[in-house]
Amino acid sequence: MKRSFRNYTIKRTCTKKYRDYHSYLKYLKEDFNHQCAYCNLLDTQITTPFEVDHFIPEDVFKDEWPELKTTYANLVYSCKKCNVAKGNQYEGDIKKREIKNELFYEPEETDYGTIFFRGEDGGICSDDEKGRDMITRLKLYRPIHNLAWICEIAKTTLDKLSYQIKVVGKDSAKGKALQEAKEELRDYYDDCLAVFMANYNNNKFVL
Ligand SMILES: [Zn+2]
Repeated sequence: MKRSFRNYTIKRTCTKKYRDYHSYLKYLKEDFNHQCAYCNLLDTQITTPFEVDHFIPEDVFKDEWPELKTTYANLVYSCKKCNVAKGNQYEGDIKKREIKNELFYEPEETDYGTIFFRGEDGGICSDDEKGRDMITRLKLYRPIHNLAWICEIAKTTLDKLSYQIKVVGKDSAKGKALQEAKEELRDYYDDCLAVFMANYNNNKFVL
């Protein structure tokens, strides 16, 4: 069974100009729905801060087109692992002055939900050749991304339960039963999150 990878649309709403590209982080956070553009990890799932990725890497643009360092259209909200994995990978002709990197689909222009899906084991998969190449380049095959997905599902279910409890009333018989289920799931979620974070931050393993 193929499960959905992403179901929100990335937008770019920042019209301000800053000298320090880190100042754009707060806009990227909102525009990218608090999720890593590449692996879809939620920034609320991890204490390790998210980073600003340059879609065309600095090593490529620094002499030819230095303005790209602070050009919002070249900035991507990324978790630390994806930013490190992407590194300086680039293919294209910087002289054309197009914000394009042939090795990767631009996340605002291309809906990653149409390129990637979650496989049986929760792993990130693609039927598309470039999509599969991106999985290798960004190391999206690492099981840490399966763990992230388990946390995401638990969190979504918790949110749904909270909503249902509100609908039926927390003091009703149904509300009380749902509350009990929610508390059990909350314990499971906290355990999953602790395992996920310990693995994400442990560089000794390939996870
Ligand atoms: Zn990521």
